[in-house]
Amino acid sequence: MLQIPEYKIPIVEIKTDFDIQIFIKREDLIHPKISGNKFWKLFFNVNQYLESKPEKPLLISFGGAFSNHIASVSAFGKQFDIPTIGIIRGNELENNWQENPTLSEASKNGMQFFFVSREDYQNKEKLTQKFSEKYPNALIIPEGGSNEMAVEGVRYMLGEDTKDFDYLCTAVGTGGTIAGISKFAEEHQKVVGIKVVRDDSLQKTISEWSRRSNFDLVDADENRYGKITDGNIRFINWFYEKYEIPLDPIYTGKMMQKIFDLAEKDFFPKGSKILAFHTGGLQGIKGANQFLKSKNRPLIDFENSIF
Ligand SMILES: *Cc1c(COP(=O)(O)O)cnc(C)c1O
Repeated sequence: MLQIPEYKIPIVEIKTDFDIQIFIKREDLIHPKISGNKFWKLFFNVNQYLESKPEKPLLISFGGAFSNHIASVSAFGKQFDIPTIGIIRGNELENNWQENPTLSEASKNGMQFFFVSREDYQNKEKLTQKFSEKYPNALIIPEGGSNEMAVEGVRYMLGEDTKDFDYLCTAVGTGGTIAGISKFAEEHQKVVGIKVVRDDSLQKTISEWSRRSNFDLVDADENRYGKITDGNIRFINWFYEKYEIPLDPIYTGKMMQKIFDLAEKDFFPKGSKILAFHTGGLQGIKGANQFLKSKNRPLIDFENSIF
């Protein structure tokens, strides 16, 4: 059994000229390598698994080469001394994964990789079956880490200090995080999810997990998953300079830019108190900069200040 850690996560105000108040909860500070929401999503899944006393505990999951989830699973395994296997999309990485910052970090955490072609990667059911035959004792965690149990873990992102806010905002990928926020929010609170992925089934998936209708989904300006825009890079560089809070270009940067945009368009009633969850993802900045540099595009300029 893993102990529920008692993290004290700071909530800080983002001072703006809007006629609302914006705050950010720094779940990114929970652990340098495990994004806040990924930590909580893994926590109950792994705990339940360990309660069944598996003979040789092993965590297996899926992800792309820059995946926060893969980074988190590897760091989680290291922290709690459980071996991990990552099934990684793209067999072209087989010989040069060492150059990828996410994967080389995951490997340092002890993760073992299996690289699969993009085609095979699509068929998760088949992969899952293959790996569960090979490792019958392992816990196989879905890509992105979201499932019914993951949603339960998100309750720990909420507490006495979040009860007072009118709006709770988060970036949405697979929907587990917003489902948990929606499920455990106070009666008077509205939940706003900023979608960073084009997935029309999210509304339904989230409703099934949360069983409440207190949430709205809005699209990030660029909602193709993983697509980084120069405009967003400028925004997160500006944001870091002004508030000294680093954001990532895949989730939290897109979320915060959208919140500012919504505030400008008077989406939030005057005087509202908004809480945005900083769900982490900062490990992805290295890989993002590597990519941007190769394309001669503007870079995230605070990389060296935070690592
Ligand atoms: C995975 C992730 C999210 C999205 O969480 P979901 O539960 O998949 O919707 C948000 N922010 C960061 C930094 C993430 O890594």
